[in-house]
Amino acid sequence: MFETLSDRLTSVFSSLRSKGRLSDADIDATCREIRIALLEADVALPVVRAFVARVKERARGAEVSQALNPAQQVVKIVHDELIEVLGGETRRLRFAKTPPTVIMLAGLQGSGKTTLAGKLARWLRTQGHAPLLVACDLQRPNAVQQLSVLAERAEVAVFAPEPGNGVGDPVDVARRSIEYARQKNHDMVIIDTAGRLGIDQEMMKQAADIRDAVQPDEILFVVDAMIGQDAVTTAQAFMEGVGFDAVVLTKLDGDARGGAALSVRHVTGRPIMFASTGEKLEDFDLFHPDRMASRILD
Ligand code: GDP
Repeated sequence: MFETLSDRLTSVFSSLRSKGRLSDADIDATCREIRIALLEADVALPVVRAFVARVKERARGAEVSQALNPAQQVVKIVHDELIEVLGGETRRLRFAKTPPTVIMLAGLQGSGKTTLAGKLARWLRTQGHAPLLVACDLQRPNAVQQLSVLAERAEVAVFAPEPGNGVGDPVDVARRSIEYARQKNHDMVIIDTAGRLGIDQEMMKQAADIRDAVQPDEILFVVDAMIGQDAVTTAQAFMEGVGFDAVVLTKLDGDARGGAALSVRHVTGRPIMFASTGEKLEDFDLFHPDRMASRILD
């Protein structure tokens, strides 16, 4: 994960190690290297600019420190700024005052949304919740079946249109699922919605209709981290079409660069809440900006 950026930053810092004091020229040269490292990691340009400007400002203003040498000071500044750009504090789920808490997932087809629904349900179950998975992706062949299989593996309940009843109306399924959750004492409802391969007005409208029908407590935008900066463009389209409260990054295990993770918060103003890091149901956790920053600088 993020190997390219890690390697680049490590070599930037190692060239500072022999210096007793950093001149403005040293700081400028270091910031140029950091800029290249971020651009190579496919971080969006406005994010790169803001990041480098902050590092430069702080490095120039840094007091002579007894505890840290100049190289360590720069590492600390970059570490702090990485945490900031990744979202600062860990964003946790907000629960509804009156259950069920309704979580709606939105994102492109292939983003890993259905897999994520299963992972999230399992994770919530292990935390003592009783989630209900709701199949509202009625467009992709097998999506309902896939969700049912995942629900079984995650040992959680699923709500899906009855077989033989035609394709069904996803808005109606979503609405009925909330009623069902109340009756069966499910305190969490996770709604998997339909995605398409590209951004599509009809898909956005359907997601917006489901949103209006169930008024989710959290709308999570699910995006494949491996698509890099395209994740940012997709996120902007979903922000306009449906709106969302937080981001879930999937396939982080295959993301050597980190562009999506480092850009999406700054560009959309929404935090990353969860990270999905593999095909197994357990490959999933809250996204911790501080831990991620430390990993990058490890
Ligand atoms: P959806 O169309 O958005 O519902 O996407 P799916 O959940 O069907 O996932 C698409 C593909 O990505 C499947 O082959 C999943 O196994 C795979 N996938 C999902 N999440 C991850 C992940 O975090 N890491 C890896 N390596 N593969 C994943």
